[in-house]
Amino acid sequence: MYEAALLAQCPCSGAGQGIPPLVLFGIAAVGAWLAYRAWRAWRKDRVFRMSKIWKIGLVVVLAAVVAIVIINKQKDSSPGTDAAGQNAAQSQPAAGLPRLLDLGSITCIPCKMMAPILEELKKEYAGRLQVEFIDVMANPDAAGPYKISLIPTQIFFDAAGKERFRHEGFFSKEDILAKWKELGVDLSAGAPAQAPQTAAGPTFSRMEPAKADERPKMAICTMCDGDINPKNLVVVKSAKGDVRLCGPHCYFILYSCLTEDKTDFEKKVSVTDWAGGNAIPATEAVYLYGAEEKTGRPTIKAFASRDAAEKERQASGGNLLAWNVLQEKELAARCGFCDRAVYPQDAARVDTADGIHTWGCCSHCALGVAARTGKDITVYQPDRLTGEMIVVKTAGGSVASLEPKTALAWFGLRKAPDGKFASAGCFHQGFFVNEDNLKKWVEQNPTETGKAITIAQALADKMKLSPQQIQKACKIGECAPK
Ligand SMILES: [Zn+2]
Ligand SMILES: [Zn+2]
Repeated sequence: MYEAALLAQCPCSGAGQGIPPLVLFGIAAVGAWLAYRAWRAWRKDRVFRMSKIWKIGLVVVLAAVVAIVIINKQKDSSPGTDAAGQNAAQSQPAAGLPRLLDLGSITCIPCKMMAPILEELKKEYAGRLQVEFIDVMANPDAAGPYKISLIPTQIFFDAAGKERFRHEGFFSKEDILAKWKELGVDLSAGAPAQAPQTAAGPTFSRMEPAKADERPKMAICTMCDGDINPKNLVVVKSAKGDVRLCGPHCYFILYSCLTEDKTDFEKKVSVTDWAGGNAIPATEAVYLYGAEEKTGRPTIKAFASRDAAEKERQASGGNLLAWNVLQEKELAARCGFCDRAVYPQDAARVDTADGIHTWGCCSHCALGVAARTGKDITVYQPDRLTGEMIVVKTAGGSVASLEPKTALAWFGLRKAPDGKFASAGCFHQGFFVNEDNLKKWVEQNPTETGKAITIAQALADKMKLSPQQIQKACKIGECAPK
């Protein structure tokens, strides 16, 4: 029904639909009949009437060749377009790129005219535009969801996978490019910066740690994998046992990404008295809130007694805060992608095109702000090894510029108990100004595992996420450490 309806409405008015099966059958039948006549003539007088036999034979062979060629051509094209069609259906938001989808057939005239245009666009805008074709005759299932009423139809999707425009009938290359521009998608952007990377892409990876992590589990922070200084230990009671954290900041990161009801959650939390070393309820402690001299990054010490806290304040400076004030400060700055509490000193700065300033708790989350807000953004992320600044600008969900151009990303991965690799979480991601810096950092951190990817790829990975996936991003149980 679907195919018939489409054919009836095809602007090519049925021209060049290919040779129907009935005609093929006719050719084959005539061929068989001629062959039979020739055989009978030969049987009858046992004489080879060469000229006649040759003529008949030639006709039979020609008919057979034509039939085989046509059949093969149809067979060749069906699985090809079939695969393309299925890719199209599966890869809908996969690339994180703007996407041009053409729905047509391999036989209709305007559809055929689209084919070289699509090829050209595919080559010229590789890495910036995803170009796909679905043969609606061979793949009615793949075409179905797009509910088109004519072939060819071109559908324009932005990098977030949202349909922005559709056109029916033949559409010239110039008109297609003009339409993208009108939609605010600059396909020329990012070409020089990203083209070499997209072509080759970094290949460096380390999937097995260079050295086993020999620290006792008790000494490792559940949130950041850092060392626990016993004087700063925070313990959260949970149904699965105690969660041990390296300090109040990691506790507030955990708290900020909890999806459960948080009422009275702090009753489960104990902190360590800096002076005496005992565990005390978090809400009853007094906190000395200071700042590192060079970075301004907050420092927090918990005390059971106000006198001890005051004594330490006189020695090292800072302010005394109650638990609820500390919480307010800790939750003030959040990741613009995953909503985790961050210290700006640790985070990537993210500016949106309309002047909003936010943070990325890691380099990849920073890019995720483009996916979460649908806006063009600028990310300022220091190199994890040297602190040199890397600046990424996005446009329409693609990288528009990258400074320096050699910058690349480390995608921290970790092997799960089932042997599959999954994101190692926000504390294990990063950007580097070049591959040398990345390799040095990996060498200095023998337990880190993962692979180098382009920053364009890191952005694409975020752009392909659905709103539901973004909602859950980095929440406990997703990419938080087990
Ligand atoms: Zn920690
Ligand atoms: Zn984040």
